[in-house]
Amino acid sequence: MIVGIDLGTTNSLVAVWRNAAPQLVPNALGDVITPSVVSLDEQGRVLVGQAARERLQTHPQLTAALFKRHMGSAREISLGTRKFRPEELSALVLRSLKDDVERAFGEPVTEAVISVPAYFSDAQRKATRIAGELAGLKVEKLVNEPTAAALAYGVHQKDRETSFLVFDLGGGTFDVSILELFEGVMEVRASAGDNFLGGEDFDAALVQHFISSLRQEKATPDFDSPGLRNRLRREAERVRQALGQEAATSFSFSHAGRQWELTISQDELQRVATPLLERLRVPIERALRDARIRVADLDEILLVGGTTRMPLVRKLAAVLFGRFPSMHINPDEVVALGAAVQAALKQRAEALEEVVLTDVCPYTLGIETTEQFGRVYEGGHYLPIIERNCVVPISRVKTIQTLHDNQTHVLLKVFQGESRLVKDNIALGELSIPVPPRPAGEVELDVRFTYDNNGILEAEVKVPATGELHHLVIEKNPGVLAPEEVRRRLAELAELKVHPREQMANTTLLARLERLYQEHLGELREMLGNMAGSFQQVLATQDLQRIEQMRVEIAQRLDELEGSPWQ
Ligand code: AMP
Repeated sequence: MIVGIDLGTTNSLVAVWRNAAPQLVPNALGDVITPSVVSLDEQGRVLVGQAARERLQTHPQLTAALFKRHMGSAREISLGTRKFRPEELSALVLRSLKDDVERAFGEPVTEAVISVPAYFSDAQRKATRIAGELAGLKVEKLVNEPTAAALAYGVHQKDRETSFLVFDLGGGTFDVSILELFEGVMEVRASAGDNFLGGEDFDAALVQHFISSLRQEKATPDFDSPGLRNRLRREAERVRQALGQEAATSFSFSHAGRQWELTISQDELQRVATPLLERLRVPIERALRDARIRVADLDEILLVGGTTRMPLVRKLAAVLFGRFPSMHINPDEVVALGAAVQAALKQRAEALEEVVLTDVCPYTLGIETTEQFGRVYEGGHYLPIIERNCVVPISRVKTIQTLHDNQTHVLLKVFQGESRLVKDNIALGELSIPVPPRPAGEVELDVRFTYDNNGILEAEVKVPATGELHHLVIEKNPGVLAPEEVRRRLAELAELKVHPREQMANTTLLARLERLYQEHLGELREMLGNMAGSFQQVLATQDLQRIEQMRVEIAQRLDELEGSPWQ
């Protein structure tokens, strides 16, 4: 079975194609949203999802979140004494989603279509496929998140020509795509984005605002410790979400017997958020320019991603586009549903009339060249070969010449980016090509770039003078694991024990009690401690009925204490 997965920065979801429609699959807690958080418990077993999210505060050294932001980099994240690559942590999330589907349908899941931000680089896409491989999933197809969103909407309205703008603001990334659906062909006309702009950044800005307001007042604790930071961020997220309904709310925080409070109004949030809101305009304008489309010609504006629930963001979208955007599909779920549509297309589901999908290369790919200004040669210039927003798959050739007399090699350096000078672009790899020694400019090299449907780049260089053909293997990319390394890590991950699924609901509740115990003081704290103690006693009886009853009771009381638990 092929599943569609939205592997998000904050949350992940899995969907399958059933009864002629995409359908989300719930996790062990019965929830369709699984936080993209991984933790190790006291016995070194892996916890994924809400229980791990609770432990961000209580066990920050053993818990990791937001690792999608580091996909495609060589960074390692420590959980206790173990170090993990971002693709390994992503693999643990994927494995948990795979397990959910296998339990629900009693069928093995062998393959997945995984969504990625349109703006993901080559290394980030490769890392995502490796994460799939590490989770035991074949990932032939990656789908851009905005494309998936438009597919989820577009699949039911194939009859008319529609142009979409997908405004996708999630926990960690912002993506804008312009797509056109015409006679069953969905074409991405342009995409642009910001890999470091999402709900988390609004939270970080609020935390900063809170800390700087407090610093003026009185002695404050060390807010830089990871446990406190996580607590502040969580409180910031609560405040940000509450301000969707209320005119003002209080940011409150207690630590070491003291309580800090700051009232935050919608206007204040607006002020704190303005620099981030301003940044949203840039990719929108770029995508519109690249697609050569006017706002008035767009048929649908789709809001995707949890952060588009913020009234400030919706207001900005309404002002920018002069109308209210569509939100009939839940913005948290639309990408996973679209990934399942893509999975069904891949399997050629009968109920699904074929929608052909075309995509674009989201950034310019090129090489370094030397420019001549009179008698002066200046290296470090950028020669674009595939320009951003070309429909893929695409293959383009550019011919370059040797620069010096009798030079024996040409060093070809490949970059991704939009800047005139390569130092401002991202280096993808390089290749040294032998050439016959001749006068300058006499040896030509045909540099061919091929960018496939999955966003993977191949460079091929032909030297007509010798008839030789060279392929660029991007070896020196520290962000991409080599195959033998993948095999080694696969074996290591297989050794890791996973926290038993049957205990997940109980473990999550205990983790939540522990977090709240740490957050509160006095009588409330005592009550939380008693609840945890009694629950543990009931757990020891192994009486499933009593356990379930007590779990529901405690969860209800905690919901009352905290407001909505899942946000
Ligand atoms: P996603 O990456 O699409 O799962 O979006 C996650 C982000 O959406 C997080 O930063 C959440 O804080 C944010 N989010 C979810 N619900 C709301 C809400 N009601 N108001 C504001 N932000 C929200």
